[in-house]
Amino acid sequence: MQVSKFWRELPQRYRLEGKKCVQCGKVCFPPRDICPVCNTNQMMRINLPKRGKIVTYTVMHTAPTSFEIYKPYIIALVQLEDGTYLTTQLTDCKPESVTLGMDVEAVVRKINEDGRDGIIYYSYKFRPVLNTNADKKKY
Ligand SMILES: [Zn+2]
Repeated sequence: MQVSKFWRELPQRYRLEGKKCVQCGKVCFPPRDICPVCNTNQMMRINLPKRGKIVTYTVMHTAPTSFEIYKPYIIALVQLEDGTYLTTQLTDCKPESVTLGMDVEAVVRKINEDGRDGIIYYSYKFRPVLNTNADKKKY
C-alpha cells in the first residue's frame, strides 16, 4: 500500500493535523483555536509534514503503568520539515541507535490498550527513516 493512500484512509485524528494562523503564520501543534502570538481566532487546519529530524531526546526507564510494556522508551523533540516542533515517542529503534539530527517519519502505532474493554488506542509515533540507498554505496 502506498504511504499517501495509507494516510488518506486514516481518520483525521491520526494524521498530524495542526493549525496555522492566517494572520502571522504561526503553526500550532497540537492545534489551537487562538493564535498564541497574535491572539486571533483565524486559524486554519493544516496537515503537518510527516518527516523531520531529532533535535533532542531522552530515554525513559520508568513509565506509567499503561506504558510498562514499552520500557525503556524514547521521547524525542522532533523538528518537522516545515520547522514545527513536536514531542513524540520514537518506535522501531533502540535507545543506543538514536542520534541527534537523525531523520524520522511519522507512523501510526498502538499507544495503549484497555484490557477490560479490549479497546486499543492508536496514535502517531516517529521512527527512523530507513536509508534505502545505504546498500547501493560504492566503497
Ligand atoms: Zn498569529
